[in-house]
Amino acid sequence: MEFFPPKTEATARDLLLCAEEISLRVKPDFVAITDGAGGSTRELTFLYSQLLRSRFGWTIVPHLTCLGRDPEELMAIAESYARMGVRSIMVLRGDKRPDEDAPSGSLKHAYELVSLIRRELPDMCVGVAGYPEKHPEAPTLEEDIRRLKEKVDCGASWITTQLFFKPELYESFLSKCRQSGIRIPIIPGLLPALSLEQAQRFCQISRATMPDHLTELMKQTSSARQWEAGVEYLLSIIPAVLKAGAPGMHLYILNRSRSLIRLLDKLSETGKFKTPKNFW
Ligand code: FAD
Repeated sequence: MEFFPPKTEATARDLLLCAEEISLRVKPDFVAITDGAGGSTRELTFLYSQLLRSRFGWTIVPHLTCLGRDPEELMAIAESYARMGVRSIMVLRGDKRPDEDAPSGSLKHAYELVSLIRRELPDMCVGVAGYPEKHPEAPTLEEDIRRLKEKVDCGASWITTQLFFKPELYESFLSKCRQSGIRIPIIPGLLPALSLEQAQRFCQISRATMPDHLTELMKQTSSARQWEAGVEYLLSIIPAVLKAGAPGMHLYILNRSRSLIRLLDKLSETGKFKTPKNFW
């Protein structure tokens, strides 16, 4: 599951409550913490990595964006994570306007940071982003997968995907990646949509396709219950995503626990998923 670093006292309290509730229900394989583009949350990403790690004993995967940062600064951050005991980092370029150039001295693409970390910290595991519907700046999906393969060849150990709502997109992305010689795990990024408005906004930002079925489901549901429709929709696609070969799920929970807990309860009813209650 993925958290983002909160910026106010109130949202910090929300994050801790959310983490507390989750920790009572499930032991995640790892917990990712995003990094604001250009280092805007640098201290906060580090701080919350430390806090969630020490308080809940979770395996933390901090994100590290390279745009706007030079190699020295990036390595200083990566080394501070290594000293904390972090063993995996998710490496990203960070967003920019299509016409905008990378600042001088800054790394321009994620593959450069993958190479740098693998060279300087060979024991560090590095994850990278993949885009089942292609990255918005890439001319074609095939070209984007070629770029993804470069990140893998530089030493990436796993891929987490951009959010998608149609399981067939994951299946065909996985198959194209495998055909291109990418052998590492490709973890599907799934969003438990909280509302129609939020799902549409996220689709617009990430250029993911919003399925008609999800739109209809949300429209038929009162706004107070749309988060439940978001969970129902995820439950309807998870079997296909797992059948396609997903090694697990990466949930964009946005510092909220309600949808995740409902999802876990429903999955646990199927008998195929064990919550800590019947796990330990
Ligand atoms: P890159 O791999 O560098 O690719 C960016 C574009 O450049 C693609 O179009 C690619 O095809 C192209 N490209 C790659 N290599 C080359 C090359 N050698 N020559 C020419 N073109 C090339 N953003 C944040 O700010 N903070 C986060 O914490 C964060 N977490 C994310 C987590 C996930 C799972 C995902 C999917 C995205 C996340 N993002 C985050 C967003 C990400 O920063 C943006 O999508 C960004 O625009 C691209 O990042 P990237 O690492 O995929 O870049």
